[in-house]
Amino acid sequence: MIEIVIDGQKCYVEKGITILEAAKTMGIRIPTKCYHPGLSPSGSCRLCSVEIKEMGRHRIVMSCMFPIENPGLEVITFNERIKKLRSFIVEMLLLRSPDDPSLKALAREYGIEDQPSHNSYTRENKCILCGLCISACEASGSAALSFINRGHEREVATPFDEPSLTCTGCGACAEICPVNFIEMEDKDGVRFIWGKIFALAKCRICGKYFATFEQLAAATGNDEPELLCMRCKQLEEARIIGHGITTG
Ligand code: SF4
Repeated sequence: MIEIVIDGQKCYVEKGITILEAAKTMGIRIPTKCYHPGLSPSGSCRLCSVEIKEMGRHRIVMSCMFPIENPGLEVITFNERIKKLRSFIVEMLLLRSPDDPSLKALAREYGIEDQPSHNSYTRENKCILCGLCISACEASGSAALSFINRGHEREVATPFDEPSLTCTGCGACAEICPVNFIEMEDKDGVRFIWGKIFALAKCRICGKYFATFEQLAAATGNDEPELLCMRCKQLEEARIIGHGITTG
């Protein structure tokens, strides 16, 4: 364990964890938009920036990307400098996604609501380019998404903007998107996403649609997977274990 100081409080943290993780264990909230605990951090939104003092030098780092390696590190998660930086970032994100409720809440928190510059916003909501959907898609094994174009034209797309051959319609991208930008619709046993249509599998116990057939086949390596949703599977396993204990 390493002794560090966060916001004036001494604490002991495991070597190698990030400042963001350490702050979380201390109940200190640092805002993020491109961070997910199950995926590698990319630092693309920079909202989690904090100030550190190390060997007498102050500097700004991204807390999601900064592993704590040495004792004596001092972290300041919020001060005027950080407030200014985060306010600027929130303004930039709002330019891309002006109607997103979580960004609007951050704007209120940082006192930047009703700034004159907001009047010139185009009201078109766009992706904030956090990259979470791409990472989630890679983690699922599909790698069907990537960034295309540059500057203002930059966006997330499937290869050549065509329906992807590797997309299984799992919907992880839509679920993880922090501004609900990705369109996914489930209707009458069919899922529409990224220009593709997927039939949804029905759970044999509860009867609910729960996944696409392609997603199940990719996850199980079986073209004829068992049609059982996660909840019913857990209940069935618990029942079998319970039965085993009772009769064993
Ligand atoms: S579509 Fe959503 S998850 Fe993907 S990069 Fe844009 S904002 Fe992030």
